[in-house]
Amino acid sequence: MGVVLSRLRRFLGRSGPAKTSAPAQPHTASAKSTESAESVQSTASPPPTVPPAAGRSPIHIAIVGSGIGGLSLAVGCLRNNVSFTIYESALKYSVIGAGVGLGPNALRAMALISPELRALYDTISSGNLSQEKLHVAMEAMYAEPGFGEKRGWTPQPFGAPCYERTSAHRADLLDILTSQVPKNTVQFNKRVTDITQFPNEGCVKLSFADGTTAKATAVIGCDGVKGASRAMVLGPAGFPEEIAPVFAGKYAYRSIVPMAKAQEVLGAEYAGDAKCFNGTNVNIMTYPISSGTECNIVACMFTDKPWTHATWTHRVTEDEVRADFADVDDRLVALISCAEPVQWALHHHIKTSIYYHGLVCLLGDSAHATTPHQASGAGMSIEDALILSHVLGAVQDWRELPAAFAAYDEVRRPRAQKIVRTSQELGAIYACRDPRYGDDMGKIVKNLNDRFLWIWEHNLEADMATVRRRFQEMHKGC
Ligand SMILES: Cc1cc2nc3c(=O)[nH]c(=O)nc-3n(C[C@H](O)[C@H](O)[C@H](O)COP(=O)(O)OP(=O)(O)OC[C@H]3O[C@@H](n4cnc5c(N)ncnc54)[C@H](O)[C@@H]3O)c2cc1C
Repeated sequence: MGVVLSRLRRFLGRSGPAKTSAPAQPHTASAKSTESAESVQSTASPPPTVPPAAGRSPIHIAIVGSGIGGLSLAVGCLRNNVSFTIYESALKYSVIGAGVGLGPNALRAMALISPELRALYDTISSGNLSQEKLHVAMEAMYAEPGFGEKRGWTPQPFGAPCYERTSAHRADLLDILTSQVPKNTVQFNKRVTDITQFPNEGCVKLSFADGTTAKATAVIGCDGVKGASRAMVLGPAGFPEEIAPVFAGKYAYRSIVPMAKAQEVLGAEYAGDAKCFNGTNVNIMTYPISSGTECNIVACMFTDKPWTHATWTHRVTEDEVRADFADVDDRLVALISCAEPVQWALHHHIKTSIYYHGLVCLLGDSAHATTPHQASGAGMSIEDALILSHVLGAVQDWRELPAAFAAYDEVRRPRAQKIVRTSQELGAIYACRDPRYGDDMGKIVKNLNDRFLWIWEHNLEADMATVRRRFQEMHKGC
């Protein structure tokens, strides 16, 4: 607590603007610019019509990015009467993406943010097609020819009574989120390139790639794993070596195919319900989305080589795809071959020592991008949004913001970073790279039945109470 308080005092006691983009000495911020907050004119196209809460809100938050994290935060801010504007670099809301599975923790977070949103989710989500597999997360199989039949293996489920299988198309999830966010709170084509803090004036200036600027009381960087805001927190906070995403040692082929096609290629008994096919250096997940009319496929290939391509997506030939899955059952290879032959390099933020600096705070993948093995990245961003919007709702003066961010960091960071770590561990188990499990699928299934409980059963109401209590303690302590 002493470290947090001294950080808050140092930030509030500093004079002059602080350019948050430049890495500085540990735990200090540089103060490069000589402009004052008053001199910052918003040259952005007409100021957004403020949301209904603005009249009563003592702060105005700039949310950078309109992915699942940014939009969930926006809905949470509306609920908590916190005024905001979303700045999104794309020209419109994203419609790209594949399937997203959400655990009961993510769905509880969604319901606590907005019961309406949670009800909408039920209209777009899919469970296993077999009704009796309601509580089955996935069935574990061998990826090898015969799916393990030669070893006497039959599909073994993992899950829990607290868990109900649900997944959605990411575009559908974004649709229901955007339906809850007033259009006049979002500005598109606004790529944030820089953020300058004016710590004594309760103001931040955002600079955009189009040359315009805007002001806000604080910035929440929801700009994803490659977003700009991470550098603007971790640089000045003294952790510049943690800014860059780390290649997680695997890439994925991703696709969505009509369920009828998946059943034809894989066999009706293997498509329809969520499956997880494991083998040496491979892990292939298939599960229904779009009310069961489509099958989502994520086929991960593990490698010990570094990712040396200039971009995170790399087109290969169909033969190269087949070579990656040479030891895999032909039916699965045929299904994977329905995808574009594009490798998506998977990166994560295995270490993030702090989620905020002064008036800039991180949420979602910008804070804790994770590998997909525990299907929890989007869920964590919804949990973040719940806790952050809840504590922001208690802020009565901008001077309290660093305490609110510190309380959020204290509640969220241990859990979210544990997700990143344990997801990477699970990837190794799935790909038979963990010597404790090898290719013993029975042992692996036992691990799967235990390992998700701390994620799924987490008490979010307790976190909400804790974040408010710690916020009160910290800002009184300043
Ligand atoms: C293969 C795969 C499978 C996955 N499966 C699951 C799953 O089943 N369940 C689950 O919970 N999670 C899953 N995830 C993780 C999940 O997709 C992410 O955790 C989640 O989408 C992160 O949301 P976000 O809002 O933080 O970031 P993003 O979705 O990346 O959104 C960031 C937004 O910020 C915008 N932006 C970026 N830079 C700027 C800038 N400088 N200025 C303004 N705007 C900017 C972008 O355009 C984008 O709209 C999976 C991930 C992968 C890779």
